[in-house]
Amino acid sequence: MRAAVWHAAGDIRVEDRAEPADPAPGQAVVEVSMCGICGTDVHEFTEGPVIIRPAAHPLTGHRPPVVLGHEMSGTVRAVGDGGPADLAGHRVTVDPCWRCGTCYWCLRGDYHICRIGGSVGLASDGALAALVTVPTAGLVPLPDVVDDLAGALIEPLAVALHAVRRGGVGPGDRVLVLGAGPIGSALILAAIAAGAAEVFVSDPVAGRRAHALGLGAAEAFDPQESDVRREVFLRCGRVGPDVVFEATGIAPLASQAVEAARRGGTIVLLGVGHGTAELRPISVTAFERTVIGSLGYNQDLPRAVALVASGRIDPRPLVTSVVPLDRVVPDAFEPLAAGGLGQVKILVDVKGVAAQG
Ligand SMILES: [Zn+2]
Ligand SMILES: [Zn+2]
Repeated sequence: MRAAVWHAAGDIRVEDRAEPADPAPGQAVVEVSMCGICGTDVHEFTEGPVIIRPAAHPLTGHRPPVVLGHEMSGTVRAVGDGGPADLAGHRVTVDPCWRCGTCYWCLRGDYHICRIGGSVGLASDGALAALVTVPTAGLVPLPDVVDDLAGALIEPLAVALHAVRRGGVGPGDRVLVLGAGPIGSALILAAIAAGAAEVFVSDPVAGRRAHALGLGAAEAFDPQESDVRREVFLRCGRVGPDVVFEATGIAPLASQAVEAARRGGTIVLLGVGHGTAELRPISVTAFERTVIGSLGYNQDLPRAVALVASGRIDPRPLVTSVVPLDRVVPDAFEPLAAGGLGQVKILVDVKGVAAQG
């Protein structure tokens, strides 16, 4: 089968790979329809290995090269012994977290921060291929009203929903999102669905700002042109936003996010960055701000499916292009690595289903 395989930074090849083996207990094999490119995938392309482990993964035993892709829709082809056999033939999306099931965190239900957990498409071969092996615990059926294109957007939407829930966004809240890439854009949709009155966005890329406005952002600022903290402060009645999301992973923006929240407000850090940021502790203590981390999702994919199925969220405007698997490097990884160029969410049409609309 054809697959997009990460070999090293700057070296992703679309090549022929063996089909996955029959699924073991706890696993299922999914025939992929569509798969999104994640910011994480782009980081692996530009500067990896970042999350990919160069040696054998402690849970899966997998070592690179690895097929990327963890934002998928498809159809269950086979289920391992003892699994939900009735799901065979069903359309699904997938929570791609592999989890050990026995560590302190797994036993608490916090499988997404499992001590040795990892994701399909990073810790094992992923969904930028015709077939992918996934955890049965992650299978999430898709109702007919959620098509394959929307189905491939459930995972990033779940990241946003998780962060919105972590940040406690509620009706009437005012929200600032730093970064209008795929996750920042999904945050706009999730915050509005949670009842936010206004969502402000900051991003230096004009195309992404325009896209954010199309998703319902109240205003989108260029941080190179304006003092975003002050502009948003003024627009929030000289109080400031209730919740600020840092969705870029650019470390210094974490401190800017803290300074931008209102007194008593909440800052959610969900960009994945490894740099350091300066923190003035008094900015947290003296104003009783709350700083929260948010990683991925914990049972948020079924919520995302329900919101899309009910029409409360239409995730399809997140998509800025759909590309065939064979073109994934020049048409997806390269433009995204070049800073977006106005691209936000690129989907890969793995199965060859023509994107409708
Ligand atoms: Zn992702
Ligand atoms: Zn665990």
